[in-house]
Order: sequence, then structure tokens, then C-alpha cells
Amino acid sequence: SYEHRENGCIFCEIPQERVVAENELAYAILDAFPVTEQHTLIIPKRHVSDYFELHQPERNAMQRLLEERRQVIMDSDNTITGFNVGNNVGEDAGQTVMHCHTHLIPRRKGDVEEP
Ligand code: 5GP
Ligand code: ZN
Repeated sequence: SYEHRENGCIFCEIPQERVVAENELAYAILDAFPVTEQHTLIIPKRHVSDYFELHQPERNAMQRLLEERRQVIMDSDNTITGFNVGNNVGEDAGQTVMHCHTHLIPRRKGDVEEP
């Protein structure tokens, strides 16, 4: 809801047409700069800075959306053999958007050059 939005936050202002799935407390969108094809972000509707600020019902809603999207993505592409799932928390950990989001990154054998 609007009262939980923060001015100037890109994830508080996601246009509805970018939303690929949602439930009562969370959205899923595609990452604008995907690490791999179908890289998805699971985002709480309430503006909170990171994973540790979430309320348990938001965590549950995000978890459900994460599992739903994983299934949809797997069903759409039989070359996917794994996922990276995670949250960057804090600038020093690589967080660049300070509105909580969980990365769901599909992986395929040999897809990304390892460092
Ligand atoms: P972080 O580095 O904070 O964990 O992840 C932020 C993610 O948001 C990055 O993967 C980046 O590509 C993505 N991103 C940044 N700006 C936008 C945007 O305007 N739209 C979408 N869909 N993704 C964005
Ligand atoms: Zn926000």
C-alpha cells in the first residue's frame, strides 16, 4: 500500500506491467540486468531496507512466491539445472537497491564464467 512506500525508491515504484507475479505481500519482477536468462527478484511490497527487517508474514509470502516462480521457470526451460537464491544485505555485501529483494537466478551447465 502507498503508506509503506518510500519516495525515490525504484522498487516502491515498479510499474504494474513489470510485475510477473504477486501475492498479498510480495511482487516478482525480472531483473533489468539479468545475470542469466529469467533472473527474477522477489520483493516485499512494504519498503524495508533488507531481509532482516522483514516481518515473518512477509518472509512467508516471499518464500511462497519464490517457490512458485522457481517452478514456472523450470517448467519453461528444461536446460535449467540449478539456481542461486540469495539476498545481499548492506552496501559492503553488494546491495545496490536499498529495498529488500531476493535474487532467484536460474543456472545452466557452463552458463557463467566462474572467477
Ligand atoms: P542488489 O545488487 O541490490 O542485490 O541487486 C539489485 C538488482 O536490481 C540488480 O541485479 C540490478 O540489475 C537490478 N535492478 C536495478 N535497477 C532495476 C530496475 O529499475 N528494474 C529492475 N527490474 N531491476 C533493477
Ligand atoms: Zn522501496
